Amino acid sequence: MSGNDIRNVIIIGSGPAGLTAALYNARANLAPLVLAGPEPGGQLMITTDVENFPGFPEGIQGPELMQRFEAQAEGFGTDIRREIVESVDLSASPFSVTTEEGTYRGKTVIISTGATARWLGLESETRFRGRGVSACATCDGFFYKDKVITVVGGGDSAIEEATYLTRFGSKVYLAHRRDELRASQIMQKRAFDNEKLEILWNSVVTEVLGDDLAGVTAVRLKDTQTGEEREHATDGLFLGIGHDPNTAIFKGILDMDDDGYLLTDGVKTNVDGVFACGDVTDHVYQQAITAAGMGCQAAIEAEHWLEGQE
Ligand code: NAP
Repeated sequence: MSGNDIRNVIIIGSGPAGLTAALYNARANLAPLVLAGPEPGGQLMITTDVENFPGFPEGIQGPELMQRFEAQAEGFGTDIRREIVESVDLSASPFSVTTEEGTYRGKTVIISTGATARWLGLESETRFRGRGVSACATCDGFFYKDKVITVVGGGDSAIEEATYLTRFGSKVYLAHRRDELRASQIMQKRAFDNEKLEILWNSVVTEVLGDDLAGVTAVRLKDTQTGEEREHATDGLFLGIGHDPNTAIFKGILDMDDDGYLLTDGVKTNVDGVFACGDVTDHVYQQAITAAGMGCQAAIEAEHWLEGQE
């Protein structure tokens, strides 16, 4: 529980950015508090093979990597609590951060709340969510053994999901709204080389079809060039269309861009003593390693800021 203690650093979020900030602040004897949030460990918890995190030449599973981040941060004295922040008062230091358990006060705050998977926004998509519609291949792929699967998107996430799903499905389609992929070259090659994977170009999903008993049986696809619509049989629909930053609790408090990403000068927000790092402020790179690097920067800036107050 919160009590009256004033913490040196409160870190909101526990992905690579937050836990790296925690590691650095813990090693600087600042005993940081991490409020882990609704998805402890962040997006890597729903990722399979991570092949591009330096130091793991054989690759590592996302959840295992995050367990290691957590163990390392805790090992140096980080207090990690699985609580969800409901509101903040950043008007002056010490700042207040309120969870369902109570209010914590911190001289500095580091925001690393990350970003969350995007949905298409169709009524039928909501109706079949969890019954044929998913945004997490790692979580739900297993249920589609020998089934036909359709993935939406043309970026790295969509290809990663689609490639992963070919382990289970008899056939995987990638429905992309344009005639070229956004994904990196290496991921594109992976998609083109995979015989189980077929790309449906210029295609958008306009409706998810099915019934209560069978779940999803098809999607309605619209050709973005001709406007023609057709039914495309599929047992599952996976979304891989990007993410939205988790900044709802900072609206009206911190500066953010039109998409809701926090605006920073380096890792400094517009509030003195409040820092932001990772995907919550980065819509360009969005990598575990860049998030971790920003977490390190935020921790060092917080440390300097605290020194400046003494
Ligand atoms: P992204 O690069 O923004 O791609 C989103 C894709 O979804 C785009 O192809 C976009 O189409 C499509 N899309 C967006 N909204 C849509 C809608 N409403 N309907 C249909 N299609 C829609 O997002 P991401 O793939 O999640 O990647 C984000 C960042 O993470 C990137 O920097 C990426 O490199 C990185 N990442 C890397 C890896 C890896 O290296 N293993 C894995 C995952 C992500 P348009 O192309 O037409 O805009």
